[in-house]
Amino acid sequence: MLVFKFGGASVNSADAVRNMASILRKYASEKLVVVISAMGKTTNALEQLVPGVCDKDRKDEILRNLKDYHFNIANSLIPCNNDPLRATLDSLFGELEARCLKTPTSYNFDYDQVVSFGELISTTIISYFLNSIGMRNNWIDVRNIIKTDANYREGHVNWNLTQKNAQCICNQFNDEVSILITQGFIAGTAEGTTTTLGREGSDYSASILSYCLDAESMTIWKDVPGFLNADPKFFSNTVKIQQIPYNEAIELAYYGASVIHPKTVKPIQNKNVELHIRSFIQPDEAGSVVGPYDCIVPETPLYIFKNNQVLLSILPKDFSFIAEDNLQVIFGYFAQLGIRINVMQNSALSFTVCVDDNKILLEQLLKLLQQNFRVYYNKSLQLITIRYYTQQIVDEIVARRPILMEQRSRSTAQIVVSDSCTCLSDLS
Ligand code: ASP
Ligand code: MG
Repeated sequence: MLVFKFGGASVNSADAVRNMASILRKYASEKLVVVISAMGKTTNALEQLVPGVCDKDRKDEILRNLKDYHFNIANSLIPCNNDPLRATLDSLFGELEARCLKTPTSYNFDYDQVVSFGELISTTIISYFLNSIGMRNNWIDVRNIIKTDANYREGHVNWNLTQKNAQCICNQFNDEVSILITQGFIAGTAEGTTTTLGREGSDYSASILSYCLDAESMTIWKDVPGFLNADPKFFSNTVKIQQIPYNEAIELAYYGASVIHPKTVKPIQNKNVELHIRSFIQPDEAGSVVGPYDCIVPETPLYIFKNNQVLLSILPKDFSFIAEDNLQVIFGYFAQLGIRINVMQNSALSFTVCVDDNKILLEQLLKLLQQNFRVYYNKSLQLITIRYYTQQIVDEIVARRPILMEQRSRSTAQIVVSDSCTCLSDLS
């Protein structure tokens, strides 16, 4: 059995879905578990529909656009009216609309209830389409398989329950059905409430299923030829890494290499399942393999850029030192709100952290912190991580921009640089 994962870019139009089907056809003799993300940028749009984020007019507009986008793809793939696909889509969009018009409760809970529709809708369309062209498949609601706790927006997997549930996946294969279509990113609690695994979490979903099903291998189909040493959006002359040790892939994902979700590698490493990263544009090329290797091949510096960063400097109001007691309180707030710290540094008098900019969560964090701390913040920053750096490389990349924070180990340099529009604000 092979586990495939197709991300948003690989299913962002009717042609993209047809291309995906042509890749699946090449594996007609295999049992395939196919994990699919929301189409294109749907998740970003759905984030705007979470209760409390936008006003009603804006919501209506986003909903209309999302509906048009998906119905256009569905109509192009299966041209006929009033079929069960349209009925299913109508009911999914009806449920979504009801969800996003609700009064806000807890942001993280509301988020999962709304944002999960992206994957439910994409897999519904694709499953119907494949069946309509004779590629027999079953649609699986992954919320009944992958079980998490109620830590919304980043559910922790209950491995025992998930492992047990995954066995029913195997029973779905038969002489006629060799493809199972399911959703990435979303999951469910034991009680049946929808959760998600964190942004870009579909890779992790595929890895969870690969682990539980003892897959022969897992493949992530991407719009890049494999694991590149930098994001081609920022670099023109990238190098494809052919072999990556599991641990290196974990480090890179942790630092924000967007090619793999940070939690993806550990489960497959534990079962020694190889992870292939291949291009859906050139599906016959070899791509990259994450596996039990000793070092990356070829050896080259690796660059990771994270934009839209905020640097928070946190100082005790009572002029106490930043020691364990204060740190415990500060970390407690981050954990409570589910805010991930990308880099941190502390001195005697202040604690500085770099985090992704998320307006709602940062406002909540500031409210909590300001009870005991003064908080300064800088926005619109970039976090640059360089593995296997040299001073020359650092100088070139920083390009004389002011450095707001810097940290180096023997193998890794992390630098937060400012954009010209940076503002320094004292919120205390
Ligand atoms: N659709 C989700 C996201 O955009 C999950 C994924 O694509 O992996 O974050
Ligand atoms: Mg994705």
